[in-house]
Amino acid sequence: MYKKLFVIILSVFILLSACTTTPANNEEVNNDETPQEQKEGERDKEYKDQLVDDEIDFEKIRPNELGKIMVLMYHQIGPEEKEWIRTPDNFRRDLQTLYDHGYRLVSLRDVLKGEISVPAGLTPVVITFDDGTEGQFRYIEKGGEWVIDPDSAVGILLEMNEKNPGLGTAATFFVNTNPFRQPEHTKRKLEELIQFGMDIGNHTLTHPNLSQITTPEEMERQMGGLVKEIQSYLPDYQIDTLALPFGAHPKEELYPYAIKGQYQGTEYHHKGILLVGSHPSHSPFHKDFNPLRIPRIRGEDLIEYGYLYYWLEYFEKNPHLRYISDGDPRYVTIPEELLNEVDLSNFQGKKIRTY
Ligand SMILES: [Zn+2]
Repeated sequence: MYKKLFVIILSVFILLSACTTTPANNEEVNNDETPQEQKEGERDKEYKDQLVDDEIDFEKIRPNELGKIMVLMYHQIGPEEKEWIRTPDNFRRDLQTLYDHGYRLVSLRDVLKGEISVPAGLTPVVITFDDGTEGQFRYIEKGGEWVIDPDSAVGILLEMNEKNPGLGTAATFFVNTNPFRQPEHTKRKLEELIQFGMDIGNHTLTHPNLSQITTPEEMERQMGGLVKEIQSYLPDYQIDTLALPFGAHPKEELYPYAIKGQYQGTEYHHKGILLVGSHPSHSPFHKDFNPLRIPRIRGEDLIEYGYLYYWLEYFEKNPHLRYISDGDPRYVTIPEELLNEVDLSNFQGKKIRTY
């Protein structure tokens, strides 16, 4: 029969390991141990009543919510395949292959919040696009009406989700000024992205090499200027992630301005910072996860370290290293031997479950 589950209620007080080059994301940890434990005990009882644990065969599914997550990086979608350009059909093939191998699209924002909601046994994957080029989200005129280009990334994501139930449409678009390059449609596009469950991220105002910026003012203009522009269309929208242009880091003394600041009265605060290349990310529940240094994998055909099809094969060969969902975002379910690798200090209220 099914192996017995152990529900472990932990108040986790594991020190965040300070990163050598970036400030750690030191969230306040609740040290008021006793009341918290009592509260969690009550809540746990409620959860248990609702849960149908004994219908999930953990030995068969082998959930591992400390496994690695691929964050894929795309740039242009265009008619000819080249470095940094994916054709529409190749992007379709990427999504189909991911779906067929048990991956489902989740939002980067949800990963950072630890709210990873995919069915039991499946694996989350994050899609990101840099540079806000037209091929990512284009409107074309058809029979006197403006419609989404079915060969643009947004059109393809919608189409593939239609064809593959449960795939999802989540993706994050890291844009610069004049996102998607059809100014007359910008407002509509940004509003629709949100409706489709997609996110907008910061890729700076003008795409500079941040390592060459020398003043806090210019850092704040590059970060806050883009947020201000997006908020001129979507006043309530909070951008909370940044993809570094060219993957280049700002000088160390200016790094804090990549995270937080303000420009002309517009404040910004990035809770996730994405790098360029080249391997899968830790799970947000892993003690070594650093939200300010999230690596990405390139969505291209080369079967080399750093590229999608290399890592797909890698996880086929090493399924124990892949994030496998337990289907219930309230729990972080892991094989018992990984217990010393978990850190839930940024995710109060989640419970660890081992098998
Ligand atoms: Zn870029």
